[in-house]
Amino acid sequence: MKRQNFSRKREAILEAICSTDTHPTAEWVYQKLKPDFPDLSLGTVYRNIAKFKENGMVSSVGVVNGQERLDGNTNPHAHFICNSCGAVLDLKREFLKEEIDSEVEKIFGLEILYHELVFRGKCKNCLVRH
Ligand SMILES: [Zn+2]
Ligand SMILES: [Zn+2]
Repeated sequence: MKRQNFSRKREAILEAICSTDTHPTAEWVYQKLKPDFPDLSLGTVYRNIAKFKENGMVSSVGVVNGQERLDGNTNPHAHFICNSCGAVLDLKREFLKEEIDSEVEKIFGLEILYHELVFRGKCKNCLVRH
């Protein structure tokens, strides 16, 4: 009985992260699920997210304004982070060709699994609002 409840929470946490492309924080996931799981703790959310990251089911975009931003889309893609409002956007276009991985491998003698690309600046909303 207890175990079942445990895995239901686990699933709900993963679903919440994958349900949005806003790259949520653990706190956001916690607030979203709290009404359905009154005994949910922020610690449980953090622990499950850590496991999802280990298993490659969720990736981390980085820390924005002190909070880690999560991504349910684990296919490699570029991101834009707004320095003004903290919005994290997907840039659905290939900016760096795969050849760059083998180039870096050759030059530095490393094995590259993937690369991450993050642009920073001001988003459209913030540009309008000044
Ligand atoms: Zn912005
Ligand atoms: Zn993303």
